[in-house]
Amino acid sequence: MKMTGYRLHLWGGELQWESFELPDPQPDEALIRVEACGIGLTVLNCIRGDLANDAARLPRVPGHEIVGRVERVGAGAQALTVGQRVMAYFYLVCGHCPACRSGNDSLCENLAGWVGVHRDGGYAPFAVLPARNLVPLPDSIPAAQATAIPDAIATPLHVCKTRARVQAGDRVAVIGAGGGVGIHMVEMARLFGAQVAGLEASGSKFQAITVMGGTPVLSRSFDEIDLRKVWDAPTATVVIDLLGTRESATWGLKSLALGGRFVALTTFRDVDVPMSPRDLVLRELTMLGSRYASKAELVESADLVAAGKIHPIVSQVVPPEKIGEVHDALRNGTLLGRGALDWNL
Ligand SMILES: [Zn+2]
Repeated sequence: MKMTGYRLHLWGGELQWESFELPDPQPDEALIRVEACGIGLTVLNCIRGDLANDAARLPRVPGHEIVGRVERVGAGAQALTVGQRVMAYFYLVCGHCPACRSGNDSLCENLAGWVGVHRDGGYAPFAVLPARNLVPLPDSIPAAQATAIPDAIATPLHVCKTRARVQAGDRVAVIGAGGGVGIHMVEMARLFGAQVAGLEASGSKFQAITVMGGTPVLSRSFDEIDLRKVWDAPTATVVIDLLGTRESATWGLKSLALGGRFVALTTFRDVDVPMSPRDLVLRELTMLGSRYASKAELVESADLVAAGKIHPIVSQVVPPEKIGEVHDALRNGTLLGRGALDWNL
């Protein structure tokens, strides 16, 4: 049987809309009928070859934020049932190392890569994935909205709950607050009890930041930011940097209160930030990296959405032939929150 979807034949090249063979699920795998696949900057990074660019991995179907139903189950994948609603876990983890067995999945010691980079993803109507990469998802959440859960919402949950431990009384500054992870970070930090400043270079995203419970702050120039306009202090107790430039990180460290925590989430190469041990000690700062989320955090994220506590912002939902429009909006910085490819449109 054949299917038609998007494949990449060259890292950094153009996606090709083409017909190709639908694979059979092998032992411990399952075939998923994709309902929708999220479109965010990480997908563009994957397509560019930023995560891996081995030509032996081509052709490749990109897209990791997959929501769908189990269509067929391979031998040994008994934990899954045909027709079950699932979302994909981004990292191809081993399932048996100490990190995997202790629930710290994203720190897997035998990481085999990423969905959409080392395995075919959701830019095609079907995908075969390891059963351990499929996480249950409630039926009640519409597909396009649900694509925000496995990365754009689970990542903020990991930051707020596990890494920065945001709590009432915190003053959280989110740099890049209008993007897919950023906009949900604003609402998540509010849910954890913090006041939130949403730094964003595009004024068109201010209204959404406000709706999510944050105070928008224009961040075209970091020198001009005055946090006293947001709360009764010139500093933040937590800075979450989704922009990942030397300027953003430098501003973030400078703007921390005594005892503050800085959280890095970007993986751009060749970005270095001066850091003084004396400064770390005298201000008792904490510098944190945050790496994706655990499978348990994906489940908890879906529960938060189902309960109406976190609201997915998926502002552009398109049929397959229009994904280029969403890619353009992402590149131009005009996409609010996430986009999604909906296979039922
Ligand atoms: Zn592992």
